[in-house]
Amino acid sequence: MTYSKLQAELFKRLPKIDELLKHAPADCPRSAALKAARETVERLRTTIKEAPEEAAPLLDTGATRELFEERLSRILSPSLRPVVNATGVIVHTNLGRSLIPREILRDMEEIGARYSNLEFDLDRGVRGSRYVHVEELLCEITGAEAALVVNNNAAAVLLVLSSLAKGKEVVVSRSELVEIGGSFRIPDVMRQSGAILREVGATNRTHLRDYEGAITEETAMLLKVHQSNFKILGFTKSVSVRELRELADRHNLLVFEDLGSGSFVDFSKYGLEYEPTVQEAVGLGAHVVSFSGDKLLGGPQAGVILGTRELIGKIRQNPLNRALRVDKFTLSALESLLRLYRDEKKAIQAIPTVRMITEPPEVPKKKARRLLNRLRRLNLKGVTFGLIPTVGRVGGGALPLQDIPSFGVKMEFHPDSPLDAHGVEEALRTNDPPVIVRIEAECVIFDAKTLLESDIPIIEMALRTL
Ligand SMILES: *Cc1c(COP(=O)(O)O)cnc(C)c1O
Repeated sequence: MTYSKLQAELFKRLPKIDELLKHAPADCPRSAALKAARETVERLRTTIKEAPEEAAPLLDTGATRELFEERLSRILSPSLRPVVNATGVIVHTNLGRSLIPREILRDMEEIGARYSNLEFDLDRGVRGSRYVHVEELLCEITGAEAALVVNNNAAAVLLVLSSLAKGKEVVVSRSELVEIGGSFRIPDVMRQSGAILREVGATNRTHLRDYEGAITEETAMLLKVHQSNFKILGFTKSVSVRELRELADRHNLLVFEDLGSGSFVDFSKYGLEYEPTVQEAVGLGAHVVSFSGDKLLGGPQAGVILGTRELIGKIRQNPLNRALRVDKFTLSALESLLRLYRDEKKAIQAIPTVRMITEPPEVPKKKARRLLNRLRRLNLKGVTFGLIPTVGRVGGGALPLQDIPSFGVKMEFHPDSPLDAHGVEEALRTNDPPVIVRIEAECVIFDAKTLLESDIPIIEMALRTL
C-alpha cells in the first residue's frame, strides 16, 4: 500500500505514546492510560488512511489531548451501568430483565460482604447443602415435593433432559419446538443433553394419538414446552399436561413441562389473559416442571426445577449440576423473593415486574403527567410534548399478545426543528446515564410504564443539554 504525500506528512505528526501519557492524571492506573494512548494513536492512524483531510485538524496537540482524555475516561468508567428504560417493555431482555427489589439487595449485601452458612448445617455442625435455603420455600409455595435451582432456565432444561432422558427418546409436539432469542432452541438443547428428539403432530395441531403412536421401547419422556414468545391461532389443537400424564402413567414414562416464564400469581385476576401458574402446573401432574427466576417471577436470573423427591435427587446427582450451580447472590436473592411471595398482596407491591404488570393504567398516567410538566417547562424550540395512551409489553418472551395499557409522553418535531427523532434517540442513548426510548412515526415516545420516579429528573436533564 502506498500513501499520498499528504498522508506521509500526517503520519509523521502522529503523537508519541509517551507524549499522550503525560496528560493522564497522576493517580490513573498505567495499564488504562497505556490502553487509551494506544487506541488514540490507532484511531488517528486509521483516520489518516481512510480520510486524510479529516485527520489534519485532529493532529494538533490540543485535539489529540482531547481525544486521549475522552478515551481514557471511557476506559475508566464501568462498562455495565444503569440505564433509564422508557420503552414500556417490562422484562426487557437487553436491559437486564427483572428489577430486583431494594429490600432484597440489602439482604444480598449482607450475604456478600460477610461469611454465611451457604454450605454449612448450623444445627448439626457439618457440611450442608446450598439448596436448602430455597428448597423448602419453593415446596411450600408451589406444593412440589422437591426443588433444585440452577443458573437459568436454559440450564434447567438441559440438566433435566440430560439426567432423565440421555440416550432415550423424548416426544414433543412440532408446535413446541421453541426458539428463545437465538441461542436457545429446544432441538439444539435436546441434542446437547444427549436425549433424542421425537417430533409429533403438525405445526397447528397435535393430538394425544400422535404422542401415543410415537412411544416405543426407547421412549423416556413426554415433553411440554410453553409457547412463551408466540401464539398459534385459528385451527389448533394441543394436548394438556393432564392428558399427557395419564398417557405417561400407562406406559411408565415421565412428563416434563418447561413453563418458560413461570408465575406464582394468577394474572387473570388483574384483567390479563390467563396463564397457568406454577402451582397449577405442579398440581396438573407433570413429574418435573422448570421455569425462569427473572421473567414473570421478577427475581434474579435462575432456573427453578420442581419435581418428585426421587427425580430431583437423580437430577442433583448429575455431574452437570455442579457446572450449572448458582452462587450465593442468586440464592440470597431467590430466598428473599420467595419469602415475599408468601403474601401475594405484599409480593405485588414489592416486586417491580409483578407490580408493573398488574397496576392500573392510572399509575403510569400520573407518572407521564409529571414528566410532561417538567419537559414542557424546558421550552425547547421546535418540539411539542403531549400525553398519550400507549401499549406496554411484558417482554422477555412472556404473554406475547398481552397489551399492557400505559401512558407516555410523545415528543413531536416541527418541520423547521433543528432536531429530529433519530438524533434525539441517539443523544438520549449516549447520555450519562443512558435513556432508552422508542420511536414511533418520527416521534420520540417516553413510556411511563417502566419509568422509576428517579428517572424523571434524569430525562429532564438529558433533554436540557440537547
Ligand atoms: C425463556 C425460556 C427459556 C430459557 O430461560 P432462561 O431463564 O432465559 O435461560 C427456556 N424455555 C422457555 C419455554 C422459555 O420461555
